[in-house]
Amino acid sequence: MDFDYTPEQIQLRREVREFAAAEIAPHVLEWDENQTFPLAVIKKLGQLGYMGAIFPEEYGGAGLGYIEYAIIIEELSRVDGSVGIIVAAHTSLCSNHIAKAGSEEQKRKYLTKLTSGEWIGCWSLTEPEAGSDAAGTRSTAMRDGEDWIVNGSKTFTTNAHYADVCVAMAVTDRAAARHGISAFLFEKDTPGFHAGKKENKLGLRASATGEVVFSNCRLPPSQLLGKQGEGFIDSLRILDGGRVSIAALAIGMAQGAYDAALGYAKVRRQFGRPISEFQAIQHKLVDMAMKLDASRLLTYRAAKMMDAGKRVTRESAMAKLFASEAAVEIANEAVQIHGGYGFIKDYPVEKFYRDVKLCTIGEGTSEIQRLVIARQLLKD
Ligand SMILES: Cc1cc2nc3c(=O)[nH]c(=O)nc-3n(C[C@H](O)[C@H](O)[C@H](O)COP(=O)(O)OP(=O)(O)OC[C@H]3O[C@@H](n4cnc5c(N)ncnc54)[C@H](O)[C@@H]3O)c2cc1C
Repeated sequence: MDFDYTPEQIQLRREVREFAAAEIAPHVLEWDENQTFPLAVIKKLGQLGYMGAIFPEEYGGAGLGYIEYAIIIEELSRVDGSVGIIVAAHTSLCSNHIAKAGSEEQKRKYLTKLTSGEWIGCWSLTEPEAGSDAAGTRSTAMRDGEDWIVNGSKTFTTNAHYADVCVAMAVTDRAAARHGISAFLFEKDTPGFHAGKKENKLGLRASATGEVVFSNCRLPPSQLLGKQGEGFIDSLRILDGGRVSIAALAIGMAQGAYDAALGYAKVRRQFGRPISEFQAIQHKLVDMAMKLDASRLLTYRAAKMMDAGKRVTRESAMAKLFASEAAVEIANEAVQIHGGYGFIKDYPVEKFYRDVKLCTIGEGTSEIQRLVIARQLLKD
């Protein structure tokens, strides 16, 4: 086992950190308050190759692996989780579904635009009545000659309002249950397709999350993504990789909260000394640092296995479950270490505390991760 980062990975972390400090940090509060989608920053990330990190160079990607991808998501989220989730949904959900299931023509047409950041992608599985039970999808795609007619709606789609292309799941054969759901590609100007209500969220407010609506959308056969009836099964594989990015999102925000708490504990004085000299505060910092380390080990193990082409259902669910629950605890303690100042917006921990909660919900709740892991354990 090798626990060291390569010199290239260290350099990558430095570059993303510098970018985040210069281009994101000065605007974080304003974007959060006004729910401003950071479009210009996302375009710059595209130019730097960070919107297509894990894809082959022949499709405009950076040809990197999941460890590098996790480093990128972590460093962006250490400053603003909203930017982290925008990049994650674009990369490991939308683009990756096209990379894994798409035809050569679809990859040339869509992936090349997504990896450069010229286009933004979104991925719609969740529906109002089909959340954890995503196989309960109600949106339908019916044949009309060669074409498909899609009707229905999706909820909670990250990037919905800024996406140029959307990968969405719809039922093509209700009787076939999990093997009767197919994936389709929608371009933003497809007649009958539009982004609906944008949610007003607790956290990650600079990311746009909302409804996607299909009203008699006519799609030619070229817009079926992957094999007919295999869209849900492909989605489960896509989520295996996606969960590595949610773990990285959680680690990034937890690291941001920890860094702020450590710095604050050294300068805040009470009873004539820095609060970092109190054992109660030291123990909090120790537990936070330990949970961060453990989260990284689980996450980079899953990332390394992804890069080796192994199935990571169990490992990515463990990484996501542990890192997200740990990050909620770390952000909570970071607020506590700040006392009353942790409760106001002048300090960054207030935002981390709100933002990080999503990680225990998105791409499968903690309860669903336990269900996924239990199935794997019992299968073995
Ligand atoms: C900010 C944000 C961004 C998102 N982005 C996307 C996106 O880009 N694309 C997308 O498709 N979806 C996205 N989602 C949706 C997300 O994946 C779902 O919210 C999540 O899977 C849970 O579904 P639900 O909200 O319907 O909750 P429900 O499924 O209704 O769950 C409610 C509660 O019941 C529990 N529960 C449900 N079933 C079980 C069970 N069998 N055993 C034990 N407990 C159970 C859950 O754990 C939860 O605590 C996003 C959500 C948010 C909030």
